[in-house]
Amino acid sequence: MKKATDLNHLNEFKLIERIRSRLNTNSPRVKKGIGDDCAIFSTLPNKIQLISTDALIESIHFDLKTISPKQLGGKAMAANISDIAAMGGTPYLAVISLGLPTSTSINFIDKLYLGLQTICNSYRIKLAGGDTVTSPKQLFINICVLGEASKNRVFCREGAKPGDQIFVTGNPGDSAMGLRILMKKNKNLISTNHKNILIKKHLEPTPRIKESRLLAKSKLKVTSMIDVSDGLTQDLGHLCTKDKLGANLYEDKLPISNALNSACMQKIHTSTKWVLQGGEDYELLFTIKPEDVKKLKSLFLKADTVISHIGEITRHPNKITLIKRNGNRVSLKPETGFNHFKRK
Ligand code: ADP
Ligand code: MG
Repeated sequence: MKKATDLNHLNEFKLIERIRSRLNTNSPRVKKGIGDDCAIFSTLPNKIQLISTDALIESIHFDLKTISPKQLGGKAMAANISDIAAMGGTPYLAVISLGLPTSTSINFIDKLYLGLQTICNSYRIKLAGGDTVTSPKQLFINICVLGEASKNRVFCREGAKPGDQIFVTGNPGDSAMGLRILMKKNKNLISTNHKNILIKKHLEPTPRIKESRLLAKSKLKVTSMIDVSDGLTQDLGHLCTKDKLGANLYEDKLPISNALNSACMQKIHTSTKWVLQGGEDYELLFTIKPEDVKKLKSLFLKADTVISHIGEITRHPNKITLIKRNGNRVSLKPETGFNHFKRK
């Protein structure tokens, strides 16, 4: 039976009108937001434009049993703007396509948009349009985000050279452990406080826009950058491939959070694995010329985000080596992170 609260009762146009009426889409830069065939917006002179898109599909990227609609909206937007952060840019505009099963409740959509809007407001992004279609079974969300950067200050994946020093923000590995806890697969005794920290990292990631702006506005010689979405080792591999480089990582320098450490029962070997292989952290991984390391550290003293100096780029093609605390060297496989088309 059709419920008055689900989409059977509200056609596509009424739904779009409902979304429009709740969003403030116009701004000095967005002449026309939701309501026409296209949005109209202007770009700033002396800036280059960045564009990126990311899709989330129910049961691949999220499980509605473990994430609330508001968190889902927030996370979808955060994951998208993280790509703009990874290039040193500022996001300013987004459009969203939704594939909705007809059983989706209007309340769900309202909350999803609340999450989207909250992140958009925090980063001054205008949600200027989208598309709404029915999906036979699973929910999907696709966001396209636009950003801008100064013409000669964009950070790319390629650009690192042997000797460049590797840094990462925050605590990679926490998000993946948060997911494991949500899926009730971590049987270790862990305090509620640590559990909540890890779960929040997974459900409500912070895109590193502020940290990226700090780097972009500085004169530091940042030579390459990527956001960690598929695991630190795998994403580090992306910084190395183009120029056939390698990297050394130091186990004792990896930023293992107290929460992750306790979820791994203080077993260093296990927490190292989570830091290197976990996904969906949206931390920034970047390289910098050795002479700028000191300046970088003092720049981040003022920020409330921790950065860690975890290794250096080498000339060994595609060889990522972990130097263990006992001095042993272990070769890491970059492909240990997430890969959609990997054979199981
Ligand atoms: P068209 O059929 O020309 O693509 P639509 O009816 O799909 O137009 O969309 C009408 C307006 O509503 C457009 O401005 C579009 O950007 C906006 N829109 C559609 N779906 C969404 C959505 N899920 N979120 C935000 N804006 C939307
Ligand atoms: Mg349409």
